[in-house]
Amino acid sequence: VTASALGFPAVWLRHNCPCSDCRDPVTGQRLTEITAIPNGCGVTVITEGADSVAVEFTPEGHRAVFRRAWLAAHALAQPQPSAPGFPAGAAGGGRSTWLAGLAGVPGSSAAVSDSVPESGSEPEADPRTEEGKQLWRAADLGGDALPSADWSAYLADDAVREACLDAVATLGIAVLRGVDPEPDMVLRVAETFGYVRETNYGRLFDVRVVADPANLAFTSREIAPHTDNPYRDPVPTLQLLHCLRSADIGGDSGLVDGFAAASELRRADPAAFAVLTATPWRFRYADETAELSASQPLISLTADGRITAIRLNNRSMQPLRLPYAQTETAYGAYRAWVSLLGRPEFRLTLRLAPGDCLIFDNTRVLHARTAFAAPSADSGPESDSVGERHLQGCYADIDGLLSALAVLRRRKHRDDAREVG
Ligand SMILES: [Zn+2]
Repeated sequence: VTASALGFPAVWLRHNCPCSDCRDPVTGQRLTEITAIPNGCGVTVITEGADSVAVEFTPEGHRAVFRRAWLAAHALAQPQPSAPGFPAGAAGGGRSTWLAGLAGVPGSSAAVSDSVPESGSEPEADPRTEEGKQLWRAADLGGDALPSADWSAYLADDAVREACLDAVATLGIAVLRGVDPEPDMVLRVAETFGYVRETNYGRLFDVRVVADPANLAFTSREIAPHTDNPYRDPVPTLQLLHCLRSADIGGDSGLVDGFAAASELRRADPAAFAVLTATPWRFRYADETAELSASQPLISLTADGRITAIRLNNRSMQPLRLPYAQTETAYGAYRAWVSLLGRPEFRLTLRLAPGDCLIFDNTRVLHARTAFAAPSADSGPESDSVGERHLQGCYADIDGLLSALAVLRRRKHRDDAREVG
């Protein structure tokens, strides 16, 4: 019996493997990254039971047991002869979609916006899309180029605050240094430019190792580049992470400009880009008190084809329910995307020190962390503060930050005018 007889491509089955190596047994979240699955993997049915099917994946030799009821509940869709806008195959089937989308994108030869400029000025770039951003790679923000400010200067000086908020708006990140490493300070930082976005995790969340984690963030595992809460609609657009204590070893943060990476994907692999912008993926999170689910493309474009949002989270991504051929095509595009995001040139590595507060655009910048040394079970009470990484995070929204930035600029403009007049 071949994999096709089960009705799913091998890569789909492998990515949805339910075994305890592939899913965290406690949180139920997926651990297997698409890039860890060999390209061109196959599957063989070993034994067929009444309620379950045992399979082996090649060339890994990894084995898994799927329940028949689960497979039936996640059956793929039947092919639609003319699904509008969806690429027909891997070889550039979606070109018309993405070419239409490219009109007006900087660097394309297609016509630029024909909107009428207001009062003779240049048309304003949409600050939420790639045209309003400065795209970066790791080398662009290394060392002193990292947008950062001292917390006390940020509070005292409007110019420092403006520069900091502008960095979040245009680069997607900024770091405040010297924010007292005390609980709840992350909320105070958010309140300087907007409003805390409360969620089922609370007004803030603690990122540290806990005994019974509902989320992998609360373990010491490595976490690949991702955006937070893609299962929420609307998604929180800003995230803050405040370091109270750093780990002795590991626990470094990695940041990737998803717009820069998506722009590179569009250039290097337009067919994959077209598939990702046209394919909704479902994300889901459930625990005792919450059940959240949302479906969006991994790369979102505006109606005129500009990159405007990135969503990616392997842990909470749900099984695709497309027709067989489209599922394979989508997986190929997903693999290309995750591989590209994993390139070192895109990954800015930061080691947050106690007192550092990172602010970033959760619709653009993906964050990651390396594994770290978890506090050992036999460490005595006095070793409490040794090696126990502790961050506090909260969400906020970027419209509030853009508003605070605009008000600061309006005030400065008024003050400048007063000085001149
Ligand atoms: Zn497995």
